[in-house]
Amino acid sequence: MIEVQSISFHYQHDWVLQDISFKIERGGFVGIIGPNGSGKTTLLKILHRLLLPQKGEILFDHKPLQKMSRSEIAKKIAVVAQENYPILPFRVEEIVLMGRSPYLGRLLFEGKKDLEIAQRAMEWTEILPLRERYLDELSGGERKRVFIARALAQEPEVILLDEPTANLDIHHQLDFLDLILHLNRERGLTIVLATHDLNLASEFCDYLILLQKGRIYSLGPSERVITQENIEKVYGCKVWVDQNPLTHSPRVNFLRRKDHPDPLSKSLKSPPPLPKPDE
Ligand code: ADP
Repeated sequence: MIEVQSISFHYQHDWVLQDISFKIERGGFVGIIGPNGSGKTTLLKILHRLLLPQKGEILFDHKPLQKMSRSEIAKKIAVVAQENYPILPFRVEEIVLMGRSPYLGRLLFEGKKDLEIAQRAMEWTEILPLRERYLDELSGGERKRVFIARALAQEPEVILLDEPTANLDIHHQLDFLDLILHLNRERGLTIVLATHDLNLASEFCDYLILLQKGRIYSLGPSERVITQENIEKVYGCKVWVDQNPLTHSPRVNFLRRKDHPDPLSKSLKSPPPLPKPDE
């Protein structure tokens, strides 16, 4: 569906992304991970042509993204950016309706169909009861749902999410990712999300892209990407990677430097035994 072919990008002088190539299959759930400054946000911006790479090309269904119009792209790719948007003086319903703008005519009036689609997007994200409220009256988790609803109102094929779970507690992180997983599995939306949270990425994504200083260090299913060696090399810190005992996804455990100066020492060669349920 999306084919990224050897793209490189710089803002000023230094390359921020170099020779990046990968494919995203229709219906995939892809995570982009990597340390701060490794290029995740920049890559997401390039994927919806907010930025143009100086080298390489991106194809959407075999068509160069560069040859597609803004509204053509907006009908296929929606974006939920990091939570640094200004608090807009709009009601929830008005914000969700903004997602219809690629479909509106010159006069920018919404029709019955646009209102129905916005209503459905609010139903799917369970924010209908909030429709009359202003954005600044909502919690962080509710606001995230509003921006997902706006993205859904675009009726896209792909949703790009930048750090969607930052600032949410674990309950709201899981609620949010369950919603995204539902949209992916039940509605067939392709999901690409950039995140710092390695364990959530490991648990939810089918495919991961690990960036290091603007280059792809590793890509593939989480078992291939989230390994102790990869995480220690790319993040430059000691971790212990084992498996979630229930889901078998790789799990990254932090180690205090003081207690475990060498996590590969003999005593930690194999994970400690799991406690029995009645212990
Ligand atoms: P990440 O999302 O992984 O933290 P970013 O894509 O935000 O990484 O940043 C990658 C690099 O690009 C960083 O070195 C950052 O300082 C630089 N950068 C990001 N945005 C800009 C910008 N608007 N102008 C110049 N440099 C930028």
